[in-house]
Amino acid sequence: MLCLFCKRDSQGSRSVEHVVPESLGNTTMTLPAGTVCDACNNYFAVKVEKPLLESPELIALRFHETIPSKKRRIPPLLGTVGPGLPAFVQRYVDGNFMATISVESDALPYLISEKPSVVNLPALVDNWPAVLASRLMAKAALESLAQRLLGNPIGMRSLVADPQLDPIREYGRYGSGKPWPISQRRIYDVEKSWTLSTGEVVQRVWESDFLYTSFGEVYFVLAIFGLELCINLLDRDLRGYAAWLQTNNHASPLYHGKNS
Ligand SMILES: [Zn+2]
Repeated sequence: MLCLFCKRDSQGSRSVEHVVPESLGNTTMTLPAGTVCDACNNYFAVKVEKPLLESPELIALRFHETIPSKKRRIPPLLGTVGPGLPAFVQRYVDGNFMATISVESDALPYLISEKPSVVNLPALVDNWPAVLASRLMAKAALESLAQRLLGNPIGMRSLVADPQLDPIREYGRYGSGKPWPISQRRIYDVEKSWTLSTGEVVQRVWESDFLYTSFGEVYFVLAIFGLELCINLLDRDLRGYAAWLQTNNHASPLYHGKNS
């Protein structure tokens, strides 16, 4: 068994790879141990996912949408309760408290005199750090292809060997070459909810698909809380995707044709 990224023998690897980071709410889209070796799995966790998840943009998303990390923690957010008065807000998914707000003692007279008291928090931003997001997309694109080939050892071997995929593989794993462009745009409101046939109301955390354009290109499309990210697997070029959007009235490939 060879690793999808470094192509080394991954027979003894133990770690289960998450296509979308677990700390963004993904517990189901995973690859069995060995598809990605332990060294590559650890590299992505430390060098790509961690800095992305700890960027101000992703901390705001994880906080506002209460997405717990795998340790069931929601990252705290630093806001203000008044001019020059910081407030440290921690939300919880477990236990008796929904949130705690910590302020310095000089904020107390202000909080007592001001009615109503308001905590100002950084808002959501739809523009993720481009290079980290594109390296995550490069990784997730290849892993999504691998996921479709589970149980097909010949297909998996040719995926690992395919030289056409080496540029994006090496960009994702080693950061090789120029930054790979990705598209980022909002396709539905971050708070949008869906009612299931059971009557349960849920948010859609992430969804993904491939787009094959008439130019023979392959794009990977991933939406996380309604922010659609898109990457071309074969080339550092988004023109085919832009042309597809033009032709399709700026619909999302996730909700178009066979995908709708
Ligand atoms: Zn590897």
